[in-house]
Amino acid sequence: MKTLVWFRGKDLRLRDHAPLRDALEKGEVVPLFVLDPYFFDPVRARELPNRMQYLLDALHELEDRLIVVKGKSVEVVPKLAREWKVDRVVAHRWVEPFGRERDRQVAEALHVPFELFEGETLLPPGTLRNGSGEPYSIYTPFSRSWHLAEHIGAALPAARLPPQKNGTKVPTLEDLGLTRNPQLIQGGEKAAQARLAAFVKGPGKRYAELRNRLDLAETSRLSADLKFGTLSARQVWNETEGFDTFRNELVWREYAHSTLWDHPEALKTPLREAWRNFPFRDDRAGWTAWSTGTTGYPVVDAAQRQLLGEGFIHNRARMITASFLTRDLMIDFRKGEAWFMKWLVDGDWANNDAGWQWSFGCGLDAQPYFRVFAPVPQGEKFDPTGEYVRRWVPELARVPQRWLHSPWLAPPLELMAAGVKLGSSYPHPIVDHADARQRFLSTIKRHLG
Ligand SMILES: Cc1cc2nc3c(=O)[nH]c(=O)nc-3n(C[C@H](O)[C@H](O)[C@H](O)COP(=O)(O)OP(=O)(O)OC[C@H]3O[C@@H](n4cnc5c(N)ncnc54)[C@H](O)[C@@H]3O)c2cc1C
Repeated sequence: MKTLVWFRGKDLRLRDHAPLRDALEKGEVVPLFVLDPYFFDPVRARELPNRMQYLLDALHELEDRLIVVKGKSVEVVPKLAREWKVDRVVAHRWVEPFGRERDRQVAEALHVPFELFEGETLLPPGTLRNGSGEPYSIYTPFSRSWHLAEHIGAALPAARLPPQKNGTKVPTLEDLGLTRNPQLIQGGEKAAQARLAAFVKGPGKRYAELRNRLDLAETSRLSADLKFGTLSARQVWNETEGFDTFRNELVWREYAHSTLWDHPEALKTPLREAWRNFPFRDDRAGWTAWSTGTTGYPVVDAAQRQLLGEGFIHNRARMITASFLTRDLMIDFRKGEAWFMKWLVDGDWANNDAGWQWSFGCGLDAQPYFRVFAPVPQGEKFDPTGEYVRRWVPELARVPQRWLHSPWLAPPLELMAAGVKLGSSYPHPIVDHADARQRFLSTIKRHLG
C-alpha cells in the first residue's frame, strides 16, 4: 500500500508519530509538508513572527526527510494524491475549528480515503463524558475522570524515514522578511527532546513547590514543543511519571482542547452566556500602556515585556497580566487574546482561549468574578527576590526589594538613589488598583443582574 503522510504544523517529529508509523508498517511512504500561504505568505508570517521562527527551526530539521511543496493545502493534497497514485492519505487530527474545516474540505476533494490519527492530545477529543454523556464543563470532574489515563499507552519509537530528494526548499526567516530573535527557545524535535530530558532530571522534581515562582526557571518550557508537536503529549506524560502536579497541567491542556472541540464558538465569544455583551471600555491609552509594558505596575510590565522579548510569559504572570487588562482596565479579553497569539511562541488557540476566558471570568470554568488579582501582592509573593521585575524592567533594577513592586510608595529619596523618577524614567500607575477593582465589581454585578 502506498500512503501519503501529510505532516502539518502540529506533529513535526519522527518519534511517536502514529500516522507515519502506520504507513511505514503498511508499505511505501510519501511524506509531505505543504507551505500553505495561510501561514507562509510573508505578510501573514509577519503577524506571527515568533511562532514562525520555531516552525522554521522544526521544519529545517526535518527538511531532507520531507517532500516540501508550496500551495493551498486543500488543492495541493488532493492533486498530489492523484499524481503520485497513493492509496490513502493519513495525518493527525487537529482540534481547532479551522483545521477541522480544512480537513473536511480535503476529505471531500480526495479520490482516496483520508484517515486521521489521534495524537495532538493524550486522549481523543470528545472521549471524556459525564454521566449523561455530555461534555464536562468544569475542570475538576473532568480531571477526576482521568482514570481513563490507563488508555494513553506507550509512545512509539522514532520512525526511520529515508532522505527525500524532490521538492521546494523550506524558506528562511529572511525569505519571509523576518529577523531571527536569539531570545526565543530553539525549535525542533532535538531541542524539544533535550528540554524534556533536562526537566525530568531537574526542575520536574521540584515543580510542585516552585512552579509559581516568577523569579526562577522551574517550569518545563515545553509548551511550544507540545503546540508544534515536536514532542508528543503522550511521551511527555509517560516520562513524567510521579510528577503529579505537573501531569495535572497536562490535564488542563486536555481540558482546554476538549472544551474547544465541543465549543468551537469559544474563539469568538464568551462561553458563559451571562457574560456576553459585557460593556468593555475602549481605552486606547490603557491598551498602549498594557501592550508595551508601561502600566506602572512592575509585575504586569515585566510580563508584557517578557512577551515582546522572548515570546513567552510565565503562567502566573499570564494570569496576572490578563486579569489586569480585562478587569482593572476592562478592555475586551479578545484583544489581549489576539495580542498573545501574535507574540507567544507557544500561542495555541485552545490553551490561550481557555486562559483568557478563565482570567476574564467568562469561561465555563473560570476565576470567580469577585476575585480580582492584586498586582502588588501577587508580585511580592511570586517574585520574592525581585529577579523577574529586575530582568524585564531594568529601569527599576536598583529599587530596594521592599518597594520594587510598588515604587510609587517608596520614599522619594530612595527612588532618587535608585535612579528612578516616576513619570519620566518609569510611569506612575495608570489606574489605582483598588478603584479599578471596584469599578469592575460594580460593572459585572450590574451586568450579571
Ligand atoms: C491568559 C493565558 C494565556 C495562555 N496562553 C497559552 C498559550 O497560548 N499556549 C499554551 O500552551 N499555554 C497557554 N497558557 C497556559 C500556560 O500559561 C502555559 O502553558 C505555560 O505557562 C507554559 O509554560 P511551561 O511549558 O513551562 O508550563 P509547565 O508549567 O511546565 O506546564 C507543562 C505543560 O502543561 C500545559 N499547561 C500548563 N498550564 C496550562 C494551562 N493553564 N492550560 C492549558 N495547558 C497548560 C502546557 O502545555 C505546558 O507546556 C495560557 C495561560 C493563560 C492564563
